[in-house]
Amino acid sequence: MSTKQTDETKPITMAGLLSNTPAINTTTTCHEAAELFRFMDGVIGFAVLENNQPVGVISREKLTIKLASQFGHPVYGKRPVTDLMTQDPLIVDINETIDRVEQLITDGYEHALSSGFIIVEDGVYIGMGNVLSLMRESVKRTRVKNQQLEKSTRLAEHANEVKSQFLAGMSHELRTPLNAIIGFSELIVQESFGPVQPPRYGQYVEDILESGRHLLSMISDILDMSKIEAGRYDLNEQPVEVNSVARNVIKMCSVLADKKNIKLKSSLPNPSPILIGDARALKQMLVNLISNGIKYTEADGEVFLEVLDLPQRGIHISIRDTGAGIAQNELARIMEPFVQVAQGRSDKTEGTGLGLAIVKALAELQNTDFTLSSSLGIGTTAQLTFPEKKRFVAWNAA
Ligand code: ADP
Repeated sequence: MSTKQTDETKPITMAGLLSNTPAINTTTTCHEAAELFRFMDGVIGFAVLENNQPVGVISREKLTIKLASQFGHPVYGKRPVTDLMTQDPLIVDINETIDRVEQLITDGYEHALSSGFIIVEDGVYIGMGNVLSLMRESVKRTRVKNQQLEKSTRLAEHANEVKSQFLAGMSHELRTPLNAIIGFSELIVQESFGPVQPPRYGQYVEDILESGRHLLSMISDILDMSKIEAGRYDLNEQPVEVNSVARNVIKMCSVLADKKNIKLKSSLPNPSPILIGDARALKQMLVNLISNGIKYTEADGEVFLEVLDLPQRGIHISIRDTGAGIAQNELARIMEPFVQVAQGRSDKTEGTGLGLAIVKALAELQNTDFTLSSSLGIGTTAQLTFPEKKRFVAWNAA
């Protein structure tokens, strides 16, 4: 992308705000200065020079108030403006940016609001600037920036949409041949049409089958993520018996848990809470969280699923494991797509880094709170809190 600055994005400097106001000098009297103000309508302040160097600024407001006060004119009229000038004027270079000058004004040069500020070039006075024109330019520039931001957001949204469509299309194309690979290798592993000879080939086919299934699950994750991102994941919200989904997921995951010698336990309330939700999304969230619990827990550890039906407080589902845990500084990051962290991984090549991102996105889609808490070496708890309005209460049970 080009980083060239266009006229609209170039920082605006004092050159655009300069007004050629004449300066006065330290011997000018207050009366003379007031007369000058009278003839120069729009001027709010004059720079006061001594040996051509700015030493102060006299404001119209301050001078007028002083001279108009009782005995003001007799006392100050003949006195030099230095008596009433601000001795620490804001002096800025012609090339200074609006941002910097705004900063200086708020950081201690508030008097520039009423008197204006002095603009110099190579240290020599060339004119005055005032806050009104500074603000006008600032607003103009903010408007241009907003327009550019809107344009960039539209472009980014379009690019994201194209990416999601591409991923969805590609995932779909990949699934068809993969299903053939998986289906045929299953037939061979089961020796449906006769024994595999020599037996070593049987081992190879098992590897092909396992890799095919792994690829398929990765592609499904990518497809789901891109569907959610593109806003095309259609929720089918109906009353769902949470316990039945939970039991189903435990059954699915118990193969993995048994393989790693991990205890997969659960506590489900009786009767089962009924969720007004999408059964497929709920199942996917539970599968992702429980399989993570199993993946990142060492042998002899435990993964525990608990469902709580809390009247007025919704349905709470937590998945606790006694695994490696996640460092506090990684907790927020690992919810982002494709982020994996290495600690505690028993198999570093497994997974896509999409599991938690999908849970997070599905939870957001269902207005459900999803949190992770973890202690390194102790374990991790994932918590889904479905709000009360998603808890189905039968009219006769209320
Ligand atoms: P994946 O498991 O495919 O790497 P996830 O999005 O499911 O992707 O998880 C992202 C990362 O978060 C994992 O790489 C892992 O380091 C960490 N993680 C997730 N769940 C757990 C858990 N229960 N215990 C420890 N680490 C976890």
